Amino acid sequence: MKLDAKIPAGPLEKKWDKHRFELKLENPSNRRKFNIIVVGTGLAGSSASATLAELGYNVKTFCLQDSPRRAHSIAAQGGINAAKNYQNDGDSIWRLFYDTIKGGDFRSREANVYRLAQVSNHIIDQCVAQGVPFARDYGGLLTNRSFGGAQVSRTFYSRGQTGQQLLLGAYRALSRQVASEQVTLYPRRDILELVVIDGRARGVVARNLITGEIESHSAHAVVLATGGYGNVYFLSTNAMASNVSTIFRAFRKGAYFANPCFTQIHPTCIPVHGKYQSKLTLMSESLRNDGRVWVPKHPGDKRAPHQIPESERDYFLERKYPSFGNLVPRDVASRNVKEQCDQGKGVGETGLAVYLDFADSIKREGKDSIAQKYDNLFQMYEKITAQNPYETPMMIYPAVHYTMGGLWVDYNLMTTVPGLFAIGEANFSDHGANRLGASALMQGLADGYFIIPNTLGGYLAGAHLNDVTVDHPAFRSAAQASLDRIQRLLSIKGKRTVDDFHKELGLIMWEYCGMSRNNAGLAEAKQLVHSLKKEFWDNAIVPGINEEFNQSLEKAGRVADFFEFSELMLSDALARKESCGCHFNENYQTEDNEALRDDENLCHVAAWEFGGEDKEPIFHKEPLSFENVELTQRSYK
Ligand SMILES: Cc1cc2nc3c(=O)[nH]c(=O)nc-3n(C[C@H](O)[C@H](O)[C@H](O)COP(=O)(O)OP(=O)(O)OC[C@H]3O[C@@H](n4cnc5c(N)ncnc54)[C@H](O)[C@@H]3O)c2cc1C
Repeated sequence: MKLDAKIPAGPLEKKWDKHRFELKLENPSNRRKFNIIVVGTGLAGSSASATLAELGYNVKTFCLQDSPRRAHSIAAQGGINAAKNYQNDGDSIWRLFYDTIKGGDFRSREANVYRLAQVSNHIIDQCVAQGVPFARDYGGLLTNRSFGGAQVSRTFYSRGQTGQQLLLGAYRALSRQVASEQVTLYPRRDILELVVIDGRARGVVARNLITGEIESHSAHAVVLATGGYGNVYFLSTNAMASNVSTIFRAFRKGAYFANPCFTQIHPTCIPVHGKYQSKLTLMSESLRNDGRVWVPKHPGDKRAPHQIPESERDYFLERKYPSFGNLVPRDVASRNVKEQCDQGKGVGETGLAVYLDFADSIKREGKDSIAQKYDNLFQMYEKITAQNPYETPMMIYPAVHYTMGGLWVDYNLMTTVPGLFAIGEANFSDHGANRLGASALMQGLADGYFIIPNTLGGYLAGAHLNDVTVDHPAFRSAAQASLDRIQRLLSIKGKRTVDDFHKELGLIMWEYCGMSRNNAGLAEAKQLVHSLKKEFWDNAIVPGINEEFNQSLEKAGRVADFFEFSELMLSDALARKESCGCHFNENYQTEDNEALRDDENLCHVAAWEFGGEDKEPIFHKEPLSFENVELTQRSYK
């Protein structure tokens, strides 16, 4: 299939308006004839469900948690970007667009990113109207802070709980529609299969997580807003429930998967402290507005931080990148932290940590001012490490955080399966090879509040769809396939826990497909994952039965998908014979260890098609063209 991104013609700044005008419309009284399934109630799914229902569509909304409010988005800390230029510091839609393209190391679509920057301003208005309590300055106006990869302050925030406050806003909008019966909520459901009829997405098969019942739901279109898949690495900053299953199942049904190997490793997380740990905790990038990153100048220096004089400290980000300092983008910061630790300058017991020090800003602004901005993050740090960051520098290390890869979508956010849309972190759309901080919330809400309500309407108005019911054979066979897989998992009856397999898989992926990769390691990892997958299907133990609340079974399905998906990630990483953004292949680097792109051969989106059971995926590419910005070597110096 030839990939058509359906990018509208015309000047960059007019594309979205022109496209919206040209999209077919469905009149208000007709909209109630359409049923739409939305999977996911994070910022992307909640905002989409609420807005589609507000327009009059009948929406069925699914999530894993007992309440939509518990979606992973609630964990987002530092803020959300928008090009409002309230600080009058030189920001503009163009600058947000440019920073995002550059931050993504020139591996994203100009048209999508420009639209994102345009829509960003409406998001802030929408959320303020909903009552989201963004931080305000002394005079009562909305205030901003800075995030990585930008030299302006454009990030709106609610202390270190921005995701929670935004999600409460979206949840309120969703609840209004639930109350008016325009949205039917299905919490505690695990979507196991996508149902495709006559080449179009027409429904899903779900498992009721409490009773084990397998349910089928039909619709005229399906929207996947199931978040990111960082948990493939076992340890990540993601919520424990974050997974790849729904989008991977859609991939197996014909949706192409784009750039699966683009994983963001966030530089500032609380370091791993033991082998029984199952979760890592983020310390928001916003902290680098005031915290300074440093290591001792001399390898092996084990003195306590306050015993190391200024002259023996290396503020390596400020030294190497004077223009952006501590606020270089995440991929650049993470690689530099690793480099310092590899040189033996890491601190703490394991040597896998660097300092994030607030002493200067506390001296400059006072403890109260720092507490006002970050106190909940400081408390979280102290609870986990038993160290007070107002007195001792934080110790931080990079950890898996976000996935830029996801289902391939065109400008309308539709996948290669007509009628199947992907929004939020579940798609690949806007961040190229590296996402800038505070841009995930922006993208999820842009997709949900402003883009999908237009483009999905355009699809429905032109699609001429018959009604289908769950009696259709495609539903019956998808439900049977789900049951068969569940029975297969339950009948392995081996000796090793699913968690144990997941941990080993995560270690392989971290070691060979993590912060840096190389061709030989990636090829070796493919063998390792393949044989571990085989062992999983021979020797995993999945206790209990289907007809009950069975978290082991739920997890087993996820890990089985992570295995197959890891193979796809490794194929993608191997095929991209360059370094770009977060994909740092040691075989391709500049003299000063920066990512070395190959724009001549690899300036494209890699979109993978399912090749069949135990077969290699099929590679397709969407060439990227840069007509408005110049393709240059990224520099933050
Ligand atoms: C600790 C942390 C802090 C962050 N801070 C920021 C920040 O300050 N700014 C920023 O821009 N970004 C931040 N991010 C990134 C951002 O939070 C996420 O990218 C974003 O919230 C994802 O939203 P989403 O709606 O796409 O998915 P999610 O919020 O992950 O929601 C996924 C939804 O899909 C449902 N789901 C998943 N699988 C299934 C299934 N199989 N069946 C049924 N339902 C399913 C879940 O139940 C859930 O409702 C942060 C990320 C982390 C981990």
